[in-house]
Amino acid sequence: MSAGEPGELGEGVLALAALDEALDRLAHELAGLPARRALEALDAELEACRRRQAGLAAERDRLAGEQAALEAQVEAARLRRDQLEARARSGQIRAARDLAAIDEEMQQLARHVAGLEDQELALMEALEPLEAELAGLAAELADLEERRAGRAAELAAAEREVEAQQAALLPEREARARALPDEVLARYEAIRRRVGGPGAARLVGGRCEGCHLTLPAMEVDRLRRAPGGTLGTCEQCGRILVPVH
Ligand SMILES: [Zn+2]
Repeated sequence: MSAGEPGELGEGVLALAALDEALDRLAHELAGLPARRALEALDAELEACRRRQAGLAAERDRLAGEQAALEAQVEAARLRRDQLEARARSGQIRAARDLAAIDEEMQQLARHVAGLEDQELALMEALEPLEAELAGLAAELADLEERRAGRAAELAAAEREVEAQQAALLPEREARARALPDEVLARYEAIRRRVGGPGAARLVGGRCEGCHLTLPAMEVDRLRRAPGGTLGTCEQCGRILVPVH
């Protein structure tokens, strides 16, 4: 083997590094799929819409509760008025003073009912725009949910596509890893975990392609003269360094 040839071990490590680079790229692509961002934006919009809907519905329910309470009061007042009217018409009450008292109470009741009905009217006027806004929100939510379903399907398809590419690379990655001596693989994997990327890089000219730094000339010379079975290390980034032309 002549100086400058990576050798079988170096070739194997670089092949593994190339596969890891491709896998990392795919993982990055998977995490950053545009459909995912679009989906997240729709989810945020949906959440804001649902929160607004819940707030309005609570206010609507509160007003509707007040309305029901007013109606119950009106109903009770009418019932009392009917009783008084029946008594007045029964002919059993003859004293003018008693009839006047009944008449007075009926007038009070009529004023009371009129007041309650005014309050009811004000409530209905407050409820009307709330109901309209809630109806608008329901339509908006339906539209958002439909768009979300479309985006989710789009994302799932894009994910399947990238995942298929990942799955296609994994057997080769496994075979490449298995082909390396245990201690080399352990060293490679430890570096990979530490740098968060391929654990080996090519030394091209005097430059490590992992960290893109130029090594001292003496170090480059030493790495290039090393026997084929040994693997160098980049002093800057710690990656296994394989000299190539
Ligand atoms: Zn480096």
